[in-house]
Order: sequence, then structure tokens, then C-alpha cells
Amino acid sequence: MTREVELVIKNARLLLESGMVRGGVAVREGKICAIATDEHLPHAAEVIDAQSRILMPGLIDGHAHLHDEAMIDHEDFTTGTRLAASGGVTTVVEMPLSSQVDTVELVDEKIKTGERLALIDFSLYGGMINADNIGNIPLLIEKGVEGFKAFTCEPFYANAGVIAKAMSEVSEFGGHLTIHSEDQGVLEEFAREMEDEWDAPITHALARPALAEQLAVHQNVSIASSTGGHLHIAHITTREGVREVARGKQTGVEVTTEVCPHHLMFDRDEMNRLGPKSKMNPPLRSKQDRAALWAGLLTGAIDMVVSDHAPAPVEKKEAGNDDIRKAWSGVDGIQIILRVLLSEGINKGRLSWSRLLRVTTRDPARIFGLYPKKGSLTLGADADLVLVDPTKEEKITDTGILSKSGWTIYEGMKLRGLPVMTFVRGVMVFKEGEVLGTPGHGQFQPMGRGQLEIPGM
Ligand SMILES: [Zn+2]
Repeated sequence: MTREVELVIKNARLLLESGMVRGGVAVREGKICAIATDEHLPHAAEVIDAQSRILMPGLIDGHAHLHDEAMIDHEDFTTGTRLAASGGVTTVVEMPLSSQVDTVELVDEKIKTGERLALIDFSLYGGMINADNIGNIPLLIEKGVEGFKAFTCEPFYANAGVIAKAMSEVSEFGGHLTIHSEDQGVLEEFAREMEDEWDAPITHALARPALAEQLAVHQNVSIASSTGGHLHIAHITTREGVREVARGKQTGVEVTTEVCPHHLMFDRDEMNRLGPKSKMNPPLRSKQDRAALWAGLLTGAIDMVVSDHAPAPVEKKEAGNDDIRKAWSGVDGIQIILRVLLSEGINKGRLSWSRLLRVTTRDPARIFGLYPKKGSLTLGADADLVLVDPTKEEKITDTGILSKSGWTIYEGMKLRGLPVMTFVRGVMVFKEGEVLGTPGHGQFQPMGRGQLEIPGM
């Protein structure tokens, strides 16, 4: 017996991979069962009039730190996914922050915690990769954890040999290695030069120059070209970094990368005004770098936009008021990805709708092997949807943020374009400023083999 259609969303502009069309969708058992013009949509228990706003697949945030047992005062699966729902994110890939998630037991435990506390669906990263846990990579892949995090710098420094061994492992067994790419030697030497200028927040950015990223990305791409396997460069921030990734793609290396909303939004020249809240790694960069990031998103050099959501209690930020080294590194962002791309991308002519769709839904779904169940507005896909008002203006306020930390680096900004409703498997979890989802709705999504199409650009 086929169940009744539970939901119809009509009178929308549907953002499909083939373009924007008028019509609506129907949902049965949490999946999309019809995509049609309004007069051809089936009857449903609930009908929502989209009022000509844009309906697209929910976002997949491929890099967020929502739940670390040692830092539960920063964020947790419930607060983090409430915030995600308010940003149109329907699947989040949770990444370790300070506690290791590198064994089958730790993965099982995190899946259990996530399914108890999350409002939206989630996948998990394994990490941090080091000389001792590389052998666990195939075991974690069997559990549906196919993304692994490594660093070329502290606090989880792995040398080139460890990176090469881990790349060989993903080359053989699947999945991908995501690397925080800043060269440790460059960071050490440039920090030494700063002496006692640490009271100015911008010093943090000057002590971590673009060269650190350029060298580390170059090294990692070189390793991947000899081992094979899928290399993913975490949060790219510089012209040089984007160029190294693009060059790797051109020469057939399976390399992808991502960019964060804060690097698209702010320059390092704003750090002294913003204060220690603007500290993160890699740091804010120059205006020219920011322009290169927007260009990379448009041309395909950059494959997805991720939040790197990692806020902290405000005291841990303010600890850096007189010495930026003492401030927590990390900012909020999971709620702002879509807002930044609409306001500063679509509405300012820097980004097309088709690229917005790819970098927030389709390409992350393919990178994580979740496609087409996730990240796709097609028949049979999960009804993970976000309704977007592309022109409505909103002032971002601290009190408006649902995060446990209670502040946002975007405070006071006026952004144009926002998510108005979010659905996870057909269930409305967010509507016009209000979170309706409840903990326990989120389901673990095991990753499959990535389906990459490196454009060879
Ligand atoms: Zn991160």
C-alpha cells in the first residue's frame, strides 16, 4: 500500500541542476515523489505556498566542529544543528576539534550521541590522522566514515611521510584525506619575528603568511600526484593556494578544496577593528586574496563552501584582548553560509545560481559520496529542502544567534537574501526565524565512494 503524500510545496521557483523552473515538489515518506508544475502536483495532507520564492536542496556543510566532549561549553550537536537549520543546512559533516575520533569505538559513540542530539542529518570525519592511527583508516571506511583530517602544522602536526602514508591508504581503500595546509616551519619563523607586537589582532594574520599555505598545498598536491587518491585541501584562503589546487586539477590530480564564509567576507585589515573574535586558522587575508576566492568559486577551482564552525565562549576570545596569541582560534559560521553567498555573491553579481547550487549541495554530496540521496532535487532523493528569499534584508545580531557561544562575528551586518524554511526528510525544522526541529530527528549518513568529476580546468 502506498502511503499518502504528506507535503506539497507549490508556487516555487525550483533551483534544479538544469536551471530554474516554476512549479513545486511533493514529499512521501520523507522523499521527493513528484516535481511538477503546480496543476500536476498530487493532493497532500499539508500544502505550503512558496510565494514564488526559490526552493533548492538543503545545504551540506562539509566541515563543522559541533560536538567535542572536551569542549561541550563551545557547542554541541543540539545547539549546532539548531543553528544549522536556521541557515538552510540539512546535512552537516562533523569534524573532530580537539578530541580524537580515530577508532571504530569512538565513531560508534559519536554516531549514538549525534542521533540522540541532532536536529538535522550528519556524517562524520575521522581524525586527527597521525603515525599511529593510519592503520585504522580501512576500518573506519567500513563504518561509513570516509573523510579523514590531517594537519601539516600544530596542534596536530603530521610530517610529509605520514601524509604520504595516509594518502596511500585512501588511494587503496577509498575516502579522502582533508588537510589543514599551513607549513609549520614558516609559521614558527614568522611568529618569532613578531616579538612584542601581539597586542594588535592583525599580528595573528601577519605571523601566518600566504607562503605557509602555498608551500603546504604544493607539498600535499605533489604527494597526491604520486600516491593517487583523493586529496581535499581544507579552507583555502590565498591566491597562491587556489592556484596550486587549480594546477593540480589541470594535471589530473584528484584534488578538491573548500572556502569558508569568513574568508569570503572579511579582510585582515579589519582584524584590529573586529578584535580577537576575528582570530581563526588559517587567518583572514588580503583584499586580493578575497577576490581570488570569489573568482575560484565561480570558475570551479574551489569546489564547496563550508563553515569551519568553531565558536567558543566569549571569554576565550576576550582572553586575547592584550595578546592575540591567547585568544581562541575559530568563529561561528554554519548559519551564515547561504546568507553570505546570497548577499555578497548572487546579489552582487559575483556568483551564479548554478554555481551556488553546486558549491553548497551537489559537489559536497559527491565529494562525500552522499549523492543523489543528498544534495539533489530529484525524484527519490531525501526531501532535504530550503526555501530561499533572495531579496529580503536582515540585520545580523548577537541575540539572534542560536549558538551556545551567544556571539557572531557577523554582528551588525546587513545581509540581503536568507533562508526562510528548512526541511529535513520532509519535516520542517526551521520557519522564519524559529527553529521547529527537535533533537533525535537527525540520522547518521554513512558516506559512500566519492563521485568526483575533476573538471580538468
Ligand atoms: Zn576546522
